[in-house]
Amino acid sequence: MPAISQNKPYRVGRSRTGLGLFATKPIKKGTKIIRYFGRLLDSRKKKDDAIENKYLFELNDRWTIDGSIRKNVARYINHACKPNAESDVQPRKRRVIIRAIKNIEAGEEINYDYGTDYFKAYLKPIGCKCDACEKKRKKQRAEARAEKLRLKQKAERKAQKAAGKLAEGKGGSKKLPTQKAGGAKTNGKRLNGHGAKSVLANGRAVKSEIVVKAKSAKATTRAKPERESLATA
Ligand SMILES: [Zn+2]
Repeated sequence: MPAISQNKPYRVGRSRTGLGLFATKPIKKGTKIIRYFGRLLDSRKKKDDAIENKYLFELNDRWTIDGSIRKNVARYINHACKPNAESDVQPRKRRVIIRAIKNIEAGEEINYDYGTDYFKAYLKPIGCKCDACEKKRKKQRAEARAEKLRLKQKAERKAQKAAGKLAEGKGGSKKLPTQKAGGAKTNGKRLNGHGAKSVLANGRAVKSEIVVKAKSAKATTRAKPERESLATA
């Protein structure tokens, strides 16, 4: 790991994805944290354009910073979808400054958004491991577990009901109370049924109206050409 001056408000440390840059002191929103630097690559030079590594920072169509040198400590900064810093790209000065966009506390990992192109090419295929995405996945997993449990409980209730019915069939005398319960339910269903039927009836009425209209429309369109032909004749 590169040596970092004590005065700097960051250190390189272990993060979820390997190494990362962490604040060692509180960093105020808007403060310049570090410069992302390295050799400038010219896309017009074939040799330069052929260079490929994880630490390329595109300034514009022509210039890219090759940040792979060890001295470039900013290269340890990981991507985050909801970051606490940003990359302030100054293409004319061919410079990139990493700046805090939130108040960062000591111990917090510093990160910035690498941008859509990088995300699509490198992070989406393996799944982004930033805090926001981890949180989202955790929530989705919890929801999936809850849904599984709900279905399991539903199946268990169904099985219990079936077992209960089987027991009733054998007992005989227990039939009355359950029939009452069933009756209440069918009452509800019957009500629903009525509702649905009336809707259906309305639907039919409306449909038939449409049919009539359509027929009359056809009749008029048929009549027209005859008149026209008469006129031309
Ligand atoms: Zn993410």
